[in-house]
Amino acid sequence: MTNPEASGRDAQSRRLTAEHATARALVSAASMDEAAPKILEAICDSLGWEHGAFWTIDRTADLLRCAEIWNLPSVSFPEFDAISRSIAFQRGIGLPGRVWASGQPAWIPDVTSDTNFPRSKVAAREGLHAAFGFPILLRGEVQSVLEFFSREIRKPDAELLSMLSAVGHQIGIFLDRRRAQEELDRFFQLSIDMLCIVGFDGYFKRVNPAWQRILGYTQEELLSRPYLDFVHPDDRSATVAGAEHLSEGKELLHFENRYLHKDGTMRWLLWTAAPIADQQVIYGAARDITERKEAEATLALLVRELEFSKRRAEEATEAKSAFLANMSHEIRTPLNAILGMTSLALGTRLTAEQRDFITTVKSSADALLEIVNDVLDFSKIEARRLDLERVQFDVRETVGDAVKLLAFRASEKGLELAYDVARDVPDALVGDPGRLRQVLINIVGNAVKFTAAGEVLVRVATRQPGDDDRGVHLHFQVSDTGIGIPGDKVAHVFEAFTQADASTTRRYGGTGLGLAIARRLVELMNGRLWVESEVGLGSTFHFTAAFEPASDTPAARVAAAPRELEGLRVLVVDDNATNRRILVEMLASWHMAPTAVGDARAALLALQRASPTAAHFHAVITDCQMPEVDGFTLARWIKNDARLRGIPLVMLTSIGQSEDASRLRRLGISAYLTKPVKHSDLFNTFASLFSVATRLEAAEDAPPPTPRPRRPLRVLVAEDHAVNRKLVTTILNKRGHTVEAVEHGAAALAAFEASADQPFDIAIMDFEMPELGGLEATKAIRQREGDGRRRLPIVALTAHAMEGDRQRSLAAGMDDYLSKPIDVDRLIATVERLADANGAGAPAQDAASLPEAVAPAVTFDADAALRHTGGDRDLLKQLIALYRADAPMSIRKIARAAKAGDAETVRIAAHTLKGSVATVGGAAGRAAAARLEAIARSGSLDGADVALARLRTELEKLEHEFHAADLVAPARRAGVRRAPGRRRQGRRS
Ligand code: ADP
Repeated sequence: MTNPEASGRDAQSRRLTAEHATARALVSAASMDEAAPKILEAICDSLGWEHGAFWTIDRTADLLRCAEIWNLPSVSFPEFDAISRSIAFQRGIGLPGRVWASGQPAWIPDVTSDTNFPRSKVAAREGLHAAFGFPILLRGEVQSVLEFFSREIRKPDAELLSMLSAVGHQIGIFLDRRRAQEELDRFFQLSIDMLCIVGFDGYFKRVNPAWQRILGYTQEELLSRPYLDFVHPDDRSATVAGAEHLSEGKELLHFENRYLHKDGTMRWLLWTAAPIADQQVIYGAARDITERKEAEATLALLVRELEFSKRRAEEATEAKSAFLANMSHEIRTPLNAILGMTSLALGTRLTAEQRDFITTVKSSADALLEIVNDVLDFSKIEARRLDLERVQFDVRETVGDAVKLLAFRASEKGLELAYDVARDVPDALVGDPGRLRQVLINIVGNAVKFTAAGEVLVRVATRQPGDDDRGVHLHFQVSDTGIGIPGDKVAHVFEAFTQADASTTRRYGGTGLGLAIARRLVELMNGRLWVESEVGLGSTFHFTAAFEPASDTPAARVAAAPRELEGLRVLVVDDNATNRRILVEMLASWHMAPTAVGDARAALLALQRASPTAAHFHAVITDCQMPEVDGFTLARWIKNDARLRGIPLVMLTSIGQSEDASRLRRLGISAYLTKPVKHSDLFNTFASLFSVATRLEAAEDAPPPTPRPRRPLRVLVAEDHAVNRKLVTTILNKRGHTVEAVEHGAAALAAFEASADQPFDIAIMDFEMPELGGLEATKAIRQREGDGRRRLPIVALTAHAMEGDRQRSLAAGMDDYLSKPIDVDRLIATVERLADANGAGAPAQDAASLPEAVAPAVTFDADAALRHTGGDRDLLKQLIALYRADAPMSIRKIARAAKAGDAETVRIAAHTLKGSVATVGGAAGRAAAARLEAIARSGSLDGADVALARLRTELEKLEHEFHAADLVAPARRAGVRRAPGRRRQGRRS
């Protein structure tokens, strides 16, 4: 009898022994393969089983194979060992296969009688009976199977099986840990970064091979010395602080320090580290960022260098611009003197040869001034000192004026020059019309310059602005059929002093500044300038510009077409399709009813067909130069046809077709217009043809200066530049005024103080002078002008041509402002007007409220005169000839009538003379005639003799000017006394 309690205790202690022995075997072995025989022995030994085998899974074949066998030393089962080693089990087959499939321990009391035990025969032969097996599970998955055999038949022992199942689990966990450990070790060895464990005692406990690779020290060297020894001396205190931070239990992220390399160089390390306080260690990972640091340092150096270079370049640009500004300023000063003195010289008696020489000097000086202005503009833009004006202006007028200025040159070359402003472009906008004109003149000027044949077309359209932009955006296009620009040169033409082709300068002239300035001006207008071009075919320059909408639109006069023009049928005859389209567009914009045809024959046919019907034409507008049948012939045909004779005919001529003027008159043409036709000119022509009260009439001229000063003035002139001083002094002396000229503001102040007994009537002060500038001197004078002392009018004089000078001078207490080059008439008019206003006891005005200086009527306004002839000099010459033949007769007539007291005849003759002298640009003469007319209109002729004398003087001066400008052609007898375009036709014939 066995004691069941004792045998239970015995079994339990054997199980415990088996468990311990297994654990021992595992801990002492490096791997499961190494541990397997010991585990087999430990279990067999402690449990009293004779044979054990260790089966591992062959993952590739998905089969179990025997890896290890152990037998009790006292027995042997050679045949069973052999078959176990040679056999392989699938999942579910035999004992190991069953354990594998179920993941559970299995017990067979007697294998010799088991149906699923392939080795049963051999087992029977060698006397093996009972068997059990259990799995080693790793994360729930069977890794291997252990099986044990006994020579006895044994009943299943549930407790034993559950103990073995626990053992299998533990082995699995143990193996799992070991594998993880191995993984970590492998990573530790492989890491590119430096990994370490550092004790709180200041020594490395463990370092990975990266340390040696990066710092050159062996592991032993690193572990043998305090780690601070390896830290760069400059970084030690920061490192100690970092270590303290860690020893307080906090992590350290993104800490950088330098370590010394064994070779004496150093390495930058970027650290992250975390402390394990209870183990008194720090886990650290460091990365070698030396290369990045060096790159950063190089980059920082480069950035510094770049900033330095940029600053230097900017300084150089500014210095260059300031130099250019100064230079052009310095050049303008003597140039002023040249222009002023030549003007004076041209006013004296000269031989024809001298006049020719001096006229050449003057035109050269004018050209030079233009270049200097370009340079000044450019440098102001470069130095960011150019501000745009903001005034209301009429877009169509501005574009038209700019384009018309080039009409003469275009016509000389036989080019068609046209412009087209889309109907939806508003008439009035706010912006800088002067600068817009400058850009247009430059681009259109280039187009004309670089085109030998064909046409130049300017188009203006609106563009959709951006979402939050309420401005008006315009798109300008200037197309030509000229030489074009090679693709590789296109980008360069906008650079300063650059031309597409070096030979350009020789052939076409120019400085290469125009487009550079234009581009910058356009950019200031929030637009851009670009070009599309093809060599040999032509170029299209585009630019955009933004303007503000005009708040009130008094200039929107043309758009609001008068009723009288509505529905009038006009026949447009032009061989050029673009021109036809533009004319039709303009006429239609006033609600007229235009019809266009391309030649004279078609025109005649259309006219004849329509004439008997209600759809007859009210007017014809025809180009004069057309292939086959020209405009004149068409005019003759019309005039020869009784039914058509009455239709008013408007002729389009090109500027420079001087011989045409007389033909126009002979042919009874109602009006003529020079191409390109300006919107306002066409409107005025039709308005006048159909007697519409036009709202485009220019305002009456401002009152001109008297031909003689009312009284001699005492003028104080402060100007540091000797030539200018002389120029101003001479001009004023010639007018009979006395001048005291000083060189600077301090002297001016002294002269002012000394003049209490005999006060000056007016002072002229240069802005910039040594000692004391004009502004400062003015302020000082204003301070000294206590009550009782009469206020001295002061006029500023400057060559600056900068915006804001007028404001500055007015703010300083000056009364008006004159910019150089000195305009003789303007100087005189301003000086005399201010002195007279002051002398008449006029109350001193608040300077800021002073009106803009009124432009005096000049003796000869050549621009206005050329405008009247559309820029045609030859035509102007003829008109002047007519005027010269006429004027003396008119004067004699006036004199006779005045003597006879016939005010009405005086009025009519003065009125007629006023018109003809105005046509040829005699602004001052026109004013004198107007005065005489006004006197006569009052019915009495009081003062008429004085007015007549003035008129004579003015006409004499005008005569001089005509000679000076070389506009006196050998007089031709012609019977017409007015400009043809001015003649009016009856209403709707
Ligand atoms: P420039 O005063 O020399 O004309 P710009 O700056 O106005 O200077 O023009 C620069 C160059 O661009 C010109 O010299 C010319 O080579 C080229 N260019 C400008 N406009 C045209 C054009 N319409 N057709 C062909 N070439 C042009």
